[in-house]
Amino acid sequence: MLSKCDHCQHEFRVDGFLIEDMQDGIEKTYFECPHCKREYVAFYTDPEIRELQAKIRNTGWNDEEANTLLKMVEDNKRLMNELRKRMEMQGE
Ligand SMILES: [Zn+2]
Repeated sequence: MLSKCDHCQHEFRVDGFLIEDMQDGIEKTYFECPHCKREYVAFYTDPEIRELQAKIRNTGWNDEEANTLLKMVEDNKRLMNELRKRMEMQGE
């Protein structure tokens, strides 16, 4: 994906995300501008979220499990949003 840095206006291709370990098993997934090194956080995960994500990946797509899967995806989004809010309130 092509991205433009808000900070230095440099355009660059994001090939993959970097992962940094935070406290309490929280991982920050992010990429940075190769020009000015400004950090862009994609999302945060904690062990609970990663467990949920593993379950989502392991769930088959048959009708019986489709509703369960959708619910798990919603829970995952909600948890990730909550975690992001918490991490951003703390600052860096
Ligand atoms: Zn930049």
